[in-house]
Amino acid sequence: MEKASLHSAAEPVVTTDLRDGFGTGGQWSGNENRDIPGSLGFLERLEEWEHSQPCISENKESAARTWLKEGDERSKGTNKGGIGAHWCYQSQKYEQLHCEGPRQWHLTYAACKEKKQSPINIVTKTVVHDKSLKPLNFEGYDVKGSSKWKIENNGHTVKVTLSTSPKIGGGGLERKYKAIEFHFHWGVQGVQQYHPGSEHSIDGEKQAMELHIVHIREDLSDITEAKKNADGVAVLAFFIKAEEENKNYATLIKELENVNYNGQTAKMDPLPLSSLLPREEDLERYYRYVGSLTTPDCHEGVIWTVFEKPIELSSSQIAQFSTVRFGEKNSTYMVENFRPAQFLNERKVYWSSASILLPTAKVLMSVLALTYILSSLFQ
Ligand SMILES: [Zn+2]
Repeated sequence: MEKASLHSAAEPVVTTDLRDGFGTGGQWSGNENRDIPGSLGFLERLEEWEHSQPCISENKESAARTWLKEGDERSKGTNKGGIGAHWCYQSQKYEQLHCEGPRQWHLTYAACKEKKQSPINIVTKTVVHDKSLKPLNFEGYDVKGSSKWKIENNGHTVKVTLSTSPKIGGGGLERKYKAIEFHFHWGVQGVQQYHPGSEHSIDGEKQAMELHIVHIREDLSDITEAKKNADGVAVLAFFIKAEEENKNYATLIKELENVNYNGQTAKMDPLPLSSLLPREEDLERYYRYVGSLTTPDCHEGVIWTVFEKPIELSSSQIAQFSTVRFGEKNSTYMVENFRPAQFLNERKVYWSSASILLPTAKVLMSVLALTYILSSLFQ
């Protein structure tokens, strides 16, 4: 492969970029699948490689050959678990040239290129109002358990495994689901501003962070069992916005210093889960769709509930999450641990019908009604 070909192959990469774009506000539509990496030929794979290697200027050809050879091993499944085969986020590729970023996850985990993936960009003008999406019932969310929570740096996020199982039901869910763990996705502090790291976005707008509370159907024992059922997993997603300091997060954020490195775990005092969320009366407005886990294996059939009302943390509280690291001592800080938006494809996003009217619209309606009543009285 000559260098010139490498360059000419790099041209169409822009279309692929749109899929990962922030703030575009557009529904991913049209000939969506033409640039899905799963169907790439040799030239496109070279282009994919070149796009993923921002720091390399020398020995491009031989590095590309090595990468492609490893790719062949990856797709044969012979390099599983070996160096270069492990999945990572795009932000890790500067340090680990050979790890598989979001565009390559499907090489090892085929489900990652399926048609019902998460996260997505929610386009409010095309969501479908669904009257059956009543407020969820939260059971045990306000209870502080007696046994400790396990907090863990798993190399991709900070995850808290619960000791008790608060439950959700209603809200259009046909079964009850129990919470098993929660974890976060976040961005990175730029020179002037924080680059948001939520996974979902609404009309192209991302928030600073996103909290996921992972639930499984209450009759199932663990996530492995839950994945065997089409309705086994439900995730509640909350945006986290930079606002005032949130004192309810103090304990959790303080624990981050005990899980600085990959594999570190610590025990922490449990909290009522509700203390980490917006007030219950603010949770009536939410989006519902069926998607996937946002990390490999990208398992599909996850029932997503994305709440409109964000959790509020201060900027310095948000910044604390980026003090943990992806790996061992001196490895890269854990930043931008989010998967880019995926295509919606044939799916629909539903919107809870509760309080559809904006407060201003409600006032306007009342004024109109009053005017009508008054005018009929004086006729
Ligand atoms: Zn998540």
